[in-house]
Amino acid sequence: MGLDKDNAIKVDPYSRTTVDNIWSVGDVTNRMPLTPAAIMEGMAFAATCFGNKPTTPIFDKVCFISTHCAAVHGHCMLPSFEYFID
Ligand SMILES: Cc1cc2nc3c(=O)[nH]c(=O)nc-3n(C[C@H](O)[C@H](O)[C@H](O)COP(=O)(O)OP(=O)(O)OC[C@H]3O[C@@H](n4cnc5c(N)ncnc54)[C@H](O)[C@@H]3O)c2cc1C
Repeated sequence: MGLDKDNAIKVDPYSRTTVDNIWSVGDVTNRMPLTPAAIMEGMAFAATCFGNKPTTPIFDKVCFISTHCAAVHGHCMLPSFEYFID
């Protein structure tokens, strides 16, 4: 199976790996390592594979929600995030 430079599983925009009939979603693909992103990738996969509706995840619509106290310095590694801070 193809891997990227960080040894994450290489996928196309529809989460297809380089092996026929094997798909991959979530952190192992290293696209956006957050729970809502993994869920969205899974939903897009299900819509594509089982819903007959080709769907790609839209990462700029993922928001990061956390109950953790956060301190941020400098640039975010994922600049497209929208932050909702209490
Ligand atoms: C410390 C920490 C804090 C985080 N905080 C946040 C947060 O506040 N908000 C947020 O959105 N995201 C957060 N994340 C990221 C979030 O946890 C991940 O993005 C998310 O869990 C990815 O889901 P996943 O299903 O891809 O992987 P996982 O949730 O890691 O699921 C993978 C599963 O596969 C299982 N597994 C592994 N190898 C095998 C094997 N060989 N056979 C069978 N099963 C196997 C593992 O046990 C695990 O249950 C945090 C991550 C960490 C490490």
